[in-house]
Amino acid sequence: MEKRLLTMQATFAACGILAVLIAAASAQTKPATVTDKNPDLPTGLDNRFLDTSLDPCVDFFKYSCGKFPKIYPIPPDMSGYGTGAIIFEHTEYALHSLLEKVEANNPSRTPNEQKVGDYYATCMNAEAVEAAGLKALRPELDRIAALKDKSELTGLLAHYQLINVSALFSYGEQQDLKDARKQIAFVDQGGLGLPERDYYLRTGDAAEKTRQQYVQHVGNMLKLLGESEAVSTAEAQKIMQLETALAKVSMDVTSQRDPKNIYHPMTVSQLAALAPEIAWPVFFERTDAPPVTDLNVANPDFFKGLHDLLESTDLESIKTYLRWQLINGIPGYALPTALDHEDFNFYDRQLRGQPEQRARWKRCSQATDGAVGEALGEVYVKNFFPPEAKAKTLQMVKDIENAMEKEIDTLAWMSAVTKVKAKEKLHMVAEKIGYPDHWRDYSALKIVRGDAIGNATRAAEFENHRQLTKIGKPVDRGEWGMTPPTVDAYYSAGMNDINFPAGILQSPLYSVDATDSENYGHIGAIVGHELTHGFDDEGRKFDGNGNLSDWWTDEDAKKYEAMTDCEVKEYGGFTAVDDVKINGQLTLGENTADNGGLRLALVALEEDAKRKGVDLNKKDASGWSPMQQFFLAYGQDWCGENRPEQIRLQVQTDPHSPREFRVKGVIQNMPEFGNAFGCKPGQPMMPTNACHVWKPQIESLKTRTPIDGFTSR
Ligand SMILES: [Zn+2]
Repeated sequence: MEKRLLTMQATFAACGILAVLIAAASAQTKPATVTDKNPDLPTGLDNRFLDTSLDPCVDFFKYSCGKFPKIYPIPPDMSGYGTGAIIFEHTEYALHSLLEKVEANNPSRTPNEQKVGDYYATCMNAEAVEAAGLKALRPELDRIAALKDKSELTGLLAHYQLINVSALFSYGEQQDLKDARKQIAFVDQGGLGLPERDYYLRTGDAAEKTRQQYVQHVGNMLKLLGESEAVSTAEAQKIMQLETALAKVSMDVTSQRDPKNIYHPMTVSQLAALAPEIAWPVFFERTDAPPVTDLNVANPDFFKGLHDLLESTDLESIKTYLRWQLINGIPGYALPTALDHEDFNFYDRQLRGQPEQRARWKRCSQATDGAVGEALGEVYVKNFFPPEAKAKTLQMVKDIENAMEKEIDTLAWMSAVTKVKAKEKLHMVAEKIGYPDHWRDYSALKIVRGDAIGNATRAAEFENHRQLTKIGKPVDRGEWGMTPPTVDAYYSAGMNDINFPAGILQSPLYSVDATDSENYGHIGAIVGHELTHGFDDEGRKFDGNGNLSDWWTDEDAKKYEAMTDCEVKEYGGFTAVDDVKINGQLTLGENTADNGGLRLALVALEEDAKRKGVDLNKKDASGWSPMQQFFLAYGQDWCGENRPEQIRLQVQTDPHSPREFRVKGVIQNMPEFGNAFGCKPGQPMMPTNACHVWKPQIESLKTRTPIDGFTSR
């Protein structure tokens, strides 16, 4: 269910670049009215999307993408649509074609095919899900009803964590921030049904309305579990009170981005002193984790608050809250129609503005990818990922790493000492492209045809168990945090690696038929983005081994912060929707990565052109110079639109800036852009107060004249 994506984690494991493009995918039932059609992938630079009647120097996002929404309006089953969503849907069709081959109950299927096929087939059988009702949940609900004393909570909470119900707090495994070779347990804030703590505390009409809708939704779900109207209404209020109390002791999303705020190593007895209501040694034992003696208590204040809350709340209220958290943790597709509908209505329609549920085959394809993604991914790459894409991408990654080395050398503000350390870190970055070298072993996972709720909870248990057994063991550096068909990419600070799943290496982001400029503008900027994450406001605090350790001189750190402060103000000035401005601090890391990423791609392109003797400023048969193609390709990474509700949600929870500003914010910081399009200093896309964390290539600018024949309108 989409909800889990909203949960902030206490690790720095992943930083997806495109996740927000692929808005919405969750609950459903009624048939989608969308004409389902596998979208063709756009080409490297797609002229259909351009609006050349506009002035590129005034609004380059609209210039690159102005006609996109007319060709690809947001479908009713999405809360946004864009370049990433086209690739996402195209990949979904590919997965579907594979799933249709293995869904029939055929004895010749391999064990992995049985799991993948039966997971999908069970999810698809809506009639059987309806007929089964909540039977599979009955033992869980009985267990809550049987609680007689708060001291009995421990075992239940441990079990919940394993089946992805993160009631009251969250729990898992992470690399030790200060010793990345170690894998440790962590506990963190959690237990909320709304996306983030400020949803409970923010003032204003929109926030108030969302809270009312949420309370209504919780009440409706309880009613569907069998409560009377009066009881469910009163219980929803109690749940809201309890969650608001949890929110009050939780950290906001921006504070959570600072590693030192969420790193508090403790012994289990120290944790027990903070929140003695939970028998922690028993808790860890019941999750079947290897012995836990030390762990990271990400937010100690939260656990102090949890203690007060558990002390002052009566058992009946806690039981009501647990019932809600349980039902909310079960994916919509495994629930009877009425509950699935209600879940969709709040989390997708009201929170994201998505008018209609997605088709069941789409939801079930995604659900199967989520449950047994590497089994499905193994077949996917065999069928859809050409080996040459891996080799070509690796070459581009190397080119961009070389570009970064050059950039570090030319940074006037960075001292020689810090430069040596920065290059050390750069040389240690591991590149992972396409798919893992070793596939996950699913033999211990049981997928039963016809048991939708059981399959979802067993898949969750299997994955959580897999994570938790890592505690105390050495780190597997070959592990992937995304499945191969995922249309996204990430950098991990603990692993110091950049990861590009097969799903993202498709046209228009990467294509053998595209020009070098187009590929550098598209995937090159994404590679540069992930690489820059190692040096953004968060990533820079980790060294090449993945340890949280300060390798900067004080003075360099201060200069760096002064420069990134320019970006905080720049992006903080953008209005995303209505009265909602971008949070410049929350989005700083992503904005730095976007800015650094395009710059590195440009440096790499210039090197490539030098090698090949190409004049980047000379127009070719397309009517564009390679330099213009590069910027247009970058602009088209972000073509598309989002519904206003989705933009509001994104700005309030997500570290990525909305698509329009990922283009404008970067472009206006690059004088090379203004030069390529003949902009005048002072025009919106060539401001005189641009931010330059990385070095602009001003010297080359001085010798250049605006592109021949290109007039700015
Ligand atoms: Zn990123």
